[in-house]
Amino acid sequence: MGDKMSNIVPFKNKIWLSSPTMHGDEQKWVTDAFAKNWITTSGENINEVEKLVAEYVGCKYAVGLSCGTASLHLAVKLAGEKLYGQPKPNQGTLQGKKVFCSDMTFDATVNPVAYEDGEAVFIDTESDTWNMCPKALEKAFELYPEVKLVVVAHLYGVPGKIDEIKTVCDKYGALIVEDAAESFGASYKGRQTGTFGDFNAISFNGNKIITGSSGGMFLTDSKDDADKVRKWSTQSREAAPWYQHEEVGYNYRMSNIIAGIVRGQMPYLEEHIAQKKDVYERYKEGFKGLPVTMNPYDAENSKPNFWLSCLLIDKDAMCQQVRGENQPMYIHDTGKTCPTEILETLAKYNAEGRPIWKPMHMQPIYRMNPFVTANGNGRGQSNAYIDRGESLDVGADLFERGLCLPSDNKMTAEEQNIIIQIIRGCFV
Ligand SMILES: *Cc1c(COP(=O)(O)O)cnc(C)c1O
Repeated sequence: MGDKMSNIVPFKNKIWLSSPTMHGDEQKWVTDAFAKNWITTSGENINEVEKLVAEYVGCKYAVGLSCGTASLHLAVKLAGEKLYGQPKPNQGTLQGKKVFCSDMTFDATVNPVAYEDGEAVFIDTESDTWNMCPKALEKAFELYPEVKLVVVAHLYGVPGKIDEIKTVCDKYGALIVEDAAESFGASYKGRQTGTFGDFNAISFNGNKIITGSSGGMFLTDSKDDADKVRKWSTQSREAAPWYQHEEVGYNYRMSNIIAGIVRGQMPYLEEHIAQKKDVYERYKEGFKGLPVTMNPYDAENSKPNFWLSCLLIDKDAMCQQVRGENQPMYIHDTGKTCPTEILETLAKYNAEGRPIWKPMHMQPIYRMNPFVTANGNGRGQSNAYIDRGESLDVGADLFERGLCLPSDNKMTAEEQNIIIQIIRGCFV
């Protein structure tokens, strides 16, 4: 590699992808829980944080749960029960039913479909926002008109084309589970993500825009749905003097300690978003002249929370890169690079990046599930391109050429300039 890098030394303190940012209020509310001895899954912090979040996003009810995945699970279960009725105690609500799901996402988005015995059908990604492609969704309904549920995520804090997705779903009478785990605080046409779906989930996991160390919430305007989720999350106890159970339950409630941390974080959500936006803008400026683009968003209609800044390398600036099941390989080429080279180089300098989410249709666990692209091709259909060895789908292409950059809101402009220099050096 070129001389550009020779004067750079590794960071003394690691530059993280996205680490928690505490302000002091969090400790205060945790201490408050200790003082009042509410060391359990109920208490003032939970009540307060449920109120704060519902007010912030503009929904009627927020139910505090143990994590985003639990929130998605109960959202999917509730959707399944509404669509197909209450199952036997040993069965999921979806029983082999197909569910359309975002393809390029964290597996927590789609695993709840499996928990409920459904079959995920993966919908390809569009290149304008890196989220579910409305055209591919429309094709999927043409192929599988019986489908009644769609699980859609907003990746990296960038709202997807949720209006178009909703229009398609309305046309086919399908319900939406919205995974806003990464996009808390982001809005589309003035409305917060996490309020578009029939059932909605957010996350307070350790690396999200604000955190409780863990935790999540189910968001809804329906009192019945909120009550149902609350009941399921507390082992489905009936209103009786003893432990009376009419349906299967879960221990999914949020802890009052974790709620204390989230309560202390809420006043800083917008500050975090502003800092993350600065990080994104600095990268954009710093990469001028390189054969790369940043993760795109619809500037006219949406306000992302800029949770992670991502980079996409132009096709003709990609060096050779091969990814096996567990190990990558690449061959450096002058003027070119690849995500593997950039990630390995960042790690060498003590900075953390990450590959783009590997699409679900490429995951061994979901290798038999159908997959639909915008031109109606994919897998599981008669014209399956994968069997014919044809060109990559959008998700596979973004995974091949994209990466998540160190996006910590505590990273200084000076540190970020060094990151930019390191990445520039990879192209030499
Ligand atoms: C983090 C995340 C989840 C899960 O949230 P947890 O609180 O970690 O369970 C779900 N979906 C997406 C897209 C996420 O990034």
